[in-house]
Amino acid sequence: MSSDLSVQLTAPNGVKYTQPTGLFINNEFVKSSDGATIDSIDPATEEKIATVYVASTEDVDKAVKAAHKALNDPSWKKLSATDRGILMWKLAELMEENRELFATIDAWDNGKTYAEAYEGDLTEAIGVIRYYAGWADKTFGQTISTTHQKFAYTLRQPIGVVGQIIPWNYPLSMATWKLGPALACGNTAVLKAAEQTPLSILVLGTLIQRAGFPPGVVNLINGLGATAGPALVAHPLVDKIAFTGSTATATKIMALAAKTLKNVTLETGGKSPLLVFPDADLDQAARWSHLGIMSNKGEICTATSRILVHADVYDDFLARFLATTTATSKVGSQWDKDTYQGPLVSRVQYDRVLEYVRVGQAEGARLVSGGQRVEASRAGAGKGFFVAPTVFTDVKPSMRIWQEEIFGPVVAIAKFGSEEEAVALANDTTYGLGAAVFTTDLERAHRVAADIAAGMVWVNSSQDCDPRVPFGGVKQSGIGRELGEAGLEAYSQIKAVHINMGNRI
Ligand code: NAD
Repeated sequence: MSSDLSVQLTAPNGVKYTQPTGLFINNEFVKSSDGATIDSIDPATEEKIATVYVASTEDVDKAVKAAHKALNDPSWKKLSATDRGILMWKLAELMEENRELFATIDAWDNGKTYAEAYEGDLTEAIGVIRYYAGWADKTFGQTISTTHQKFAYTLRQPIGVVGQIIPWNYPLSMATWKLGPALACGNTAVLKAAEQTPLSILVLGTLIQRAGFPPGVVNLINGLGATAGPALVAHPLVDKIAFTGSTATATKIMALAAKTLKNVTLETGGKSPLLVFPDADLDQAARWSHLGIMSNKGEICTATSRILVHADVYDDFLARFLATTTATSKVGSQWDKDTYQGPLVSRVQYDRVLEYVRVGQAEGARLVSGGQRVEASRAGAGKGFFVAPTVFTDVKPSMRIWQEEIFGPVVAIAKFGSEEEAVALANDTTYGLGAAVFTTDLERAHRVAADIAAGMVWVNSSQDCDPRVPFGGVKQSGIGRELGEAGLEAYSQIKAVHINMGNRI
């Protein structure tokens, strides 16, 4: 890598490494055609980490053409499915070797704690590539008997060139959720990282090269949502768009993709409810509820940001929830071992979260904890995007803080009187991503799990996520599923071949 396409960095935890700064196209790092760049910022200090190139429309075109050429190149097209899986396994091994480095970069760039990145994000990212490596030679079609001397078989073929657009909250693991099933099914990809967190994705490019993927199979670009994003979605050689991000952006993507009738899968926002019934283990409910909204700074699409508690146990639950928050949610530097909550990812996100605190107060909800910035930066007072864990009670379903996704450490708590009311309140939203149910009544657990309009339900838990289990939303939380066997559907298409064994017309 030439020195004008990389920079030597030393992270605050002492890890030294070479950060690529170019666009990764055709297994090479290149500058953007117009020389445009963006700075990546440490959200704890607001200091620049690195400047990286961002793709123009012309660069997007170059990346898509590289992916299109690779799709039909024998080095990829004729590679056996087993060998594809072996390449992916090699990639996972290289990621494992670089686990500390990746956790460092995502903690630095995003503000999540190093511990959370190392244990959570990296376990998931490596696990997803391993999981789909195993699927590569286990996805095939069927044989179907039709009439006497005829039958048909189906081939499962790649969709083609896939454009993948990811958000900033789990940079590396979001990239692997998209690349894993795409590569297992034999597609080629152009993946656009979020402009706030480009760094780990570029380092992944170096491992794609080292693992031995043919040029053009995986292309990784940085780019602005307003320019590179639509250029990728509109490109006529892109066969499918897979997107994770806000519902507002998803609607724009769907409209633009419609012009070329592209296949789309969308993972979007949420306002996930967590229900606490009177028979629940309240200590466990309080702990899981805390994790469900305060982990990863609340920047989780499935955050259980609405807590509904039965009136009989409301006060008791609230006392335990607030005690857990006080005892656990230490706000501080992402590098400190006792930090639970690092800075929010950006000034935009920080302003947005504090604006929702003002909205909640103006609407008449009761702010019982947090709601203000916290001085926790090593760079001095006024620096960093730190917000205290924030709890609102007496929240009414009509309030914006009950209806709208905040995407920060802010929870809205309300009461219910009956199971029917709890389910109705849980479902009174345009979203339908996750939901959690706390109860020791087995029948109730399954009944409510079936009745809640959500793509995923956790019983006596929150935020479980596993490469083997489908992930996705209903209503305005998305279209299609990622992860698990269901994730393969999004990246393969079925061709039917009819065979005549002897019937003559
Ligand atoms: P965002 O929609 O603004 O950006 C997400 C990605 O889309 C970025 O890469 C961005 O550059 C790109 N983008 C922006 N405008 C675009 C356009 N017009 N065309 C094409 N691409 C465009 O979202 P955000 O604010 O960065 O991320 C937070 C949101 O993501 C939250 O709403 C959250 O719920 C959602 N999210 C959902 C999931 C999920 O799996 N359901 C996971 C993580 C985040």
